[in-house]
Amino acid sequence: MTARILDGKAVAQAVRDDVRAGTDALVAMGVRPGLVVVLVGDDPASQVYVKNKDKAAREAGFDVRTVRLPATTTQTELEAELHALNADLGVHGILVQLPLPRGLDADRVVRLLDPAKDVDGLTPTSVAALVLGKPGLRPCTPAGCIELCDRHGIALEGAHVVVVGRSMLVGKPFAHLALERNATVTIAHSRTRDLAEHVRRADVVVAAVGKPGLVRGDWIRPGAAVLDVGINRLPDGKLTGDVEFEPAAARAGWITPVPGGVGPMTIAMLLANTLQAAANQTGKVLPVRPRRVGSTS
Ligand code: NDP
Repeated sequence: MTARILDGKAVAQAVRDDVRAGTDALVAMGVRPGLVVVLVGDDPASQVYVKNKDKAAREAGFDVRTVRLPATTTQTELEAELHALNADLGVHGILVQLPLPRGLDADRVVRLLDPAKDVDGLTPTSVAALVLGKPGLRPCTPAGCIELCDRHGIALEGAHVVVVGRSMLVGKPFAHLALERNATVTIAHSRTRDLAEHVRRADVVVAAVGKPGLVRGDWIRPGAAVLDVGINRLPDGKLTGDVEFEPAAARAGWITPVPGGVGPMTIAMLLANTLQAAANQTGKVLPVRPRRVGSTS
């Protein structure tokens, strides 16, 4: 293996330490960041994610609570809850755990979140700010990928970045964040002709598809940085990414493991967004700012 490991656990911890320091500073100014996680229904994977977010937010020193609503909750009831949270001055960040149970319209729910509290960076206002290159809260997973590059000294400026996957959650926002950093960006997807040829030209590859081993090791340009966002569970229960790890690591300069690469960054960036949201809403300036990845401010 030639690649150095992009250590998501270590970088996530560094971000979380920065956030903790920022929280302490904000608390000294009379503001404790408040985060509410809304969980509708009893999807087992969502329960685990919510528990992890709650624990991380607690460790960051936030005032955090999880609002648990039954799977039978109606759209009207859910929207009423969110209106109340939008209006609550003690709540600086709102996260609605997706997916929602069948019958609930997630797009409508996301649209009515106060963009100032949109710590997932998914509202149309946040998306517009990203595309326009204006300050705003950025989606956590792609922001975490940028942070991983930054903290390992991987330059995006002038680099050819190939993003495989164009979801609103990962692929598209990452492409914009990379563009903001003056990368030259190719976005590939299921209709892309000759994916291998695109990946072979990449200085930085970001795989966000959800198909184990889709990106073959021998496609990786020697020395390239490989960020594998994919999380796939194999029949034996193990987790694996979208990139063939061993052969890719034999060629790459940098590579993220799965698990332990991009995964831990998502929660770290959620915490960073919540701290920033609390400072923004209360007009406080953080003396120790988390690195506002992707923001032009
Ligand atoms: P989506 O299913 O929303 O998007 C997948 C994308 O992959 C689509 O744009 C699709 O193209 C593209 N695609 C599918 N097949 C191919 C193919 N053969 N060649 C090229 N592109 C293809 O997934 P997400 O973006 O939400 O998630 C992607 C992966 O990342 C998943 O494994 C998910 O679990 C993981 N993930 C990990 C997170 C973390 O914290 N580490 C957070 C979020 C997601 P098209 O648009 O044409 O259909």
